[in-house]
Amino acid sequence: MSGPTAKCRVVGDTNDRSEGRAPGLGEELRRLSVAESGTEMYALMEELYPLCRSLTGDGVRETLRRIGSRIPIDVHEVPTGTQAFDWQVPKEWNIRDAYIKDEAGNTVLSFRDSNLHVVGYSVPVRERLPLAELKEHLFSLPEHPDWIPYRTSYYSETWGFCLTHRQLTQLRDGIYEVVIDSDLTDGHLTYGECRIPGRTEEEVVIFTHTCHPSLCNDNLSGIALATHLAQALHGLSLRYTYRFVFAPATIGSITWLSQNEGQLSRVKHGLVVANAGDPGKLTYKRSRHGRAEIDCAVTHVLQHSGQPHAVLDFSPWGYDERQFGSPGINLPVGRLTRSPEGTFPEYHTSADNLQFVRPECLSESLATVLKTFAVLEGNARYVNRSPKGEPQLGRRGLYRKMGGYQDVPRQQLALLWALSFSTGDLSLLDIAEKSGLDFESIRAAASDLEASGLLGPQEKSA
Ligand code: ZN
Repeated sequence: MSGPTAKCRVVGDTNDRSEGRAPGLGEELRRLSVAESGTEMYALMEELYPLCRSLTGDGVRETLRRIGSRIPIDVHEVPTGTQAFDWQVPKEWNIRDAYIKDEAGNTVLSFRDSNLHVVGYSVPVRERLPLAELKEHLFSLPEHPDWIPYRTSYYSETWGFCLTHRQLTQLRDGIYEVVIDSDLTDGHLTYGECRIPGRTEEEVVIFTHTCHPSLCNDNLSGIALATHLAQALHGLSLRYTYRFVFAPATIGSITWLSQNEGQLSRVKHGLVVANAGDPGKLTYKRSRHGRAEIDCAVTHVLQHSGQPHAVLDFSPWGYDERQFGSPGINLPVGRLTRSPEGTFPEYHTSADNLQFVRPECLSESLATVLKTFAVLEGNARYVNRSPKGEPQLGRRGLYRKMGGYQDVPRQQLALLWALSFSTGDLSLLDIAEKSGLDFESIRAAASDLEASGLLGPQEKSA
């Protein structure tokens, strides 16, 4: 339980309760078929898996096009050389084919077998060279001899191949023909946005990175999760506007932030989602604020999930939360993953494949984010209109009403907690945390008390 002074900052219009007792999101959560949603997210990952994504290029465009067949998406093209804070949008990279052939003309490695075989952003090459020289451009993982590593060379113009260590050790001395049929030219950085409008302009931003080729947990799982979240929210009556951003890591979030700098004050909460499908426990990384409302909301949902989970403090390393949290931006954006980056052996290798991720893990990640949104949607501050002594609840029908709940004592307690701490400074989430009860119980109690006139909206947000 939290101490008496613990409270999460509540942002925005805390008096928006036009939906009354049951926001659409809560109903959607109850209707959600967990098994079905996991299967659908997994199917999207299967569809996107073969595409060769990178920071830029046609693989990203095709990925966004396929996401766009499921949710409304605006595709933005930012030209090479565009300034994005301290960065510049890089050249665009596209690849058609790549292979290595031995002296006899046998193909010993082909991009067509796996797009991980080519170091991302490899410059075009067409050469014949001896094995010793070729080896300077070959990368393998001796500790996992059947896995192909994932490597990129975004910011220095070079080329390379990744292969299994078993393949590497089978190469015999001789002259090899090396072809990488790629372009690295002025073009565009492509990102997608899906905006689900709410009753207010205040926004929740969900960011996921799109720059990895055939890798599943990192980060087709994040792409599938964000797509499915947008599908789940579409058509609901929402307090917040939800903006889903599909963009490459680091340069993508920096570019998006620089392109949207004038509107960032609308962003009240945010979440980076990634690594959402592996069997590891859910892991929340707090925003740089530490106790922003999003931090308290996710933590609350995880604590009441009954499932193993971890909560980490912010650090300026990891995914795009570090751009959203940079001191000049300073948005309350946390990050939800299952296993964090770099903590599982399959990370950035061909073993991060469709067998590594599971539909039921994707479902659990989806349910966690939707429950978090339900907290954000329903969180507010109230004022007790009858604060002198406990008001007589039976006279107002609140005891009778409680007969309808499955868990009467908990709901009775929730009424008393909501009355006791609705003095205008604590939010319903703060009261849930103090009481040890779940947010939904406190919110339901507050709605009943408001309907009976015992609680009123706090007129001004703090
Ligand atoms: Zn990665």
